[in-house]
Amino acid sequence: MRYIALVSPPSNDDWSTRHSVRATARRTAALVNALTARSRPDPGAIAGVLLDHGEPGPLELTADDVAGMRAAAVRLREVFAAGHVDGAARALNELLREGTGPLRLSSHDGRSPWHPHLDSDDEAPWGEWFLASSCMALTVLLWDGQRPPGGLCSSPSCDSVFLTLGSGPERRYCSRRCATRERVAAHRRARAGSGSS
Ligand SMILES: [Zn+2]
Repeated sequence: MRYIALVSPPSNDDWSTRHSVRATARRTAALVNALTARSRPDPGAIAGVLLDHGEPGPLELTADDVAGMRAAAVRLREVFAAGHVDGAARALNELLREGTGPLRLSSHDGRSPWHPHLDSDDEAPWGEWFLASSCMALTVLLWDGQRPPGGLCSSPSCDSVFLTLGSGPERRYCSRRCATRERVAAHRRARAGSGSS
């Protein structure tokens, strides 16, 4: 149990499945956005997103690794684009059928708490790992919330995906930046409309 002392979690809660699922889903959304923003994502930038989300370094990704991850990101985007829980479940079921293996547990040789994996092996290619770990997290979030695990930003000038975590009013924008920009644009349109009448 030495790894517990090494990782020293501040509380039991940090080891909970919920925490891991949310952290994984946040990583999924960040990677989908980074990987689909351009046709050839920069491997260094993608490695940076992975490190930001707790992947132990140093990391070296090849162009092939990133191409595999991008293919997974394009498919995962369909789950965010579904807009409704039934559509998101259908999209996830398709990915689970085509792209993931049977459920297994891994502790990465004692370096982490036991957690579920849907990829074939701890040394699976990055693209396979990304698709499988994302499907796992999004599936559990959909199950837990009975709603789509995320959505697409409503701003016409933004393509980002976001997660729907927590309870609260339905989210429409990926960020405060997009929400503010669209509010200002709507205000301008309203003013222009009232000026011309
Ligand atoms: Zn946005």
